[in-house]
Formats: sequence, structure tokens, C-alpha cells
Amino acid sequence: MEYQSNDSNKGAAAVHAASDSNNRKPASAQQLIRENVQYLIEQLEAGHSEALTAFLDAMAHFHSYSFGNVLLIARQRPSATKVAGMRTWNELGRRVKRGEKGIAILAPMIAKSRKKDSQKSATENTEANKSALLGFRRVYVWDEAQTDGAPLPMLGETTGEVGEYLDRLREFVSSRGITLEYSEDIAPALGVSYGGRIALLPGQTKPEEFIALVHEASHELLHKSERRTATTKTVRETEAEAVAFVIAKAIGLSANTSAAYIQLYHGNAELLMESLEVVQQTASVILAAIQTEESISQDVPESQFSNAEAQTAA
Ligand SMILES: [Zn+2]
Repeated sequence: MEYQSNDSNKGAAAVHAASDSNNRKPASAQQLIRENVQYLIEQLEAGHSEALTAFLDAMAHFHSYSFGNVLLIARQRPSATKVAGMRTWNELGRRVKRGEKGIAILAPMIAKSRKKDSQKSATENTEANKSALLGFRRVYVWDEAQTDGAPLPMLGETTGEVGEYLDRLREFVSSRGITLEYSEDIAPALGVSYGGRIALLPGQTKPEEFIALVHEASHELLHKSERRTATTKTVRETEAEAVAFVIAKAIGLSANTSAAYIQLYHGNAELLMESLEVVQQTASVILAAIQTEESISQDVPESQFSNAEAQTAA
């Protein structure tokens, strides 16, 4: 696996710029997100659609991470599959290889001590008190491929048959108050969502049914609210497909990325950002629901693996 030194430098530089530009002011995560989405758009416009695939892959691998950090990881190290801080790697009996540069991400600074903020304006302090979030600081993580040492324990390994995930997905759908039924009448559609009710075509294989149900559940979560009015049908279909791609990937099913994203948001950073963000959030909610409690307990982004680690390094 080739180390992406150029991308790494750029991404790290982006984090540095965001956190250092205003002296004491914490890094603006939003600013960084905008910059990285803009970068993604530039890549897409230059014909590098693999940048989008890498980002959706990163959503699958790092679904417990924030949207901004998924962008940062995908940009600096598109091939990353498991990341952790140096201390965690050391606790696992592994060392970061000499010369490997860390992947810079942002960790929230929670307001326990506000000493450093005493010079800030009253407005800023009020805001900090309200949210208890002072801002973000730069931390570094490394991908598994940048480390060597003891074999990894099966931390957060995605295990189990598709059938188990399908069962849990059905439970999740039901827990959201959505009725699930099977109907021949919807053919040739594989699934239809009606708002509070999903119909699936009977007789599909389990992987097919799983993906169809994720797709329809995504419509239920994303597009049956007021947001529907602000989206076109093409956007809604693409978003549901993207969620299905991320989740299929996370549990070890192969899935095809829809290249439609590239045309859909041509040059429109705001739309693309909003769309990717809701895809990431929706995928994260569904994955949290269908994965085992054991793997969810590993979700401490800064110091632990993310839990969707079905695949070995691609
Ligand atoms: Zn659809």
C-alpha cells in the first residue's frame, strides 16, 4: 500500500491553517469541512471520481467519526481502514513505523477549564458555556498499515451473516414505527417506501433484500420530512443509494458506487456538502443500530478503532 504523502501534507496543512490562523481561536470545524468539500469537488471536476469513492469508503470504515473527520481521513489517506492514536496502537502491541506521518483530525475540546478563554469576549464565553464545547484541537491518528507489531485482536470486527444484519435492520425499521411488508405488486421495484410503511419484493436473496431495505429505510429517514421538498427525485435516489453503498460496504457486502453524484452537484459545494452530510449521518444511525453492542462500545474515535472494520486493507 502506497503512502499518500502529498495528500497527507495537504490535509494536515488544512488542519493547521484552520487552527492556527486565529491565534487563540479554536479551529473552525465548519471552515475545514467547507475546504475539504471544495477539494472533493475540484477532484471530481478534474475527473478524479475515486476521491468520492474514497470518501464513501471512509464513511463505511469510520462511521462513528464526525463528518468533518471522515473528510479529513479520506483526503489524507484514502486507503485507510483502521485508525487509532499512537497510545492505542502501543497498548495493542503495535508501533507506528518510522517516518509515517500522522493523519490530522480534530478532537472536540470540552469546556471543563476555560482558563485560556479568559481574554475572550463575553459573547464567545457565553456561547462556550452554552454548548460546553470550546472548539477543536488537532490530534493525530495512524492507519493500521502505518504500524507493525502484534496481530490485532478482533476489535470491532464486523462478523456474522447478512441474515443477522437483515434481522437487526428489520428491528431497527420497526423501532422507528415503520411497517414492513412484502408484496408482489410492487414489481419490478425491489422496494418502495410510502412514509411509515415499506414494501419489499418477496423472493430476493438476503444480500439483495438487505440493500433494498437500507435503501428504502434511507428514504424513510431522509425524505419523508420537510427536506423532501428541498430535494429532487434524482437527489433523493442518489442519497438513498449512497447510504446503501456505505452500509453494504461496512458489513462486507460488495456494492457499486453511484457515479451520479458527480453530475448532480456539479460545482455546487453547498448542495454536495449538505447531501454528503445527511448520507453520513443516516448511515451512521443505521450502522449503530445493526451492529452488535460489543462493537459499538469501541466507538471512541480519538483513541479507539472505529467499529466498521469488516474488510482488510483494500
Ligand atoms: Zn429509491
